[in-house]
Amino acid sequence: MSEAEKIISCPFNRAHSVLKGRNQFHLTRCRKQHPCADMGYCPYNSTHIFPKSETEYHLEHCESRIVMDTFFYQMGDSECSAKGACSLNVDLPPCEENWDDDMIEGSVLDVVKENAKKKNVLIGIAGASKAERKAHRLQERLRFQRLNGGDIAQVIIYSWF
Ligand SMILES: [Zn+2]
Ligand SMILES: [Zn+2]
Repeated sequence: MSEAEKIISCPFNRAHSVLKGRNQFHLTRCRKQHPCADMGYCPYNSTHIFPKSETEYHLEHCESRIVMDTFFYQMGDSECSAKGACSLNVDLPPCEENWDDDMIEGSVLDVVKENAKKKNVLIGIAGASKAERKAHRLQERLRFQRLNGGDIAQVIIYSWF
């Protein structure tokens, strides 16, 4: 950046040349000295001060606004991918029964919770013997009864095995 680019002229008094790094300080002081100046202030950058008539033009072309827009665009984007990561498509092993019939009606969150539980249980019993599976099934049934208060949990448990 050349020396000339580092110097900006004060919007309150064009005779004031201000170093870019110092302009915030200068503008605050000059603003107090020119309380009647009919100036427009940029909502994106406190050092952007301009004749009120130029407000519209400035807001259209303000470099800080463009930076901010880009920032919000990126925020929006990452929010989207975060939502995608929370999709309801939990990987379940193939099953001949139609589990949808046993699905509980409820909030989306409940469905996600149920899917997560199923997933954990099925991973948990992989490679277990018949007896172990039986014990596990009983354990899970008790756990589900505690969690859900009975009926619904049993429907899900019986549809698994
Ligand atoms: Zn000034
Ligand atoms: Zn601006």
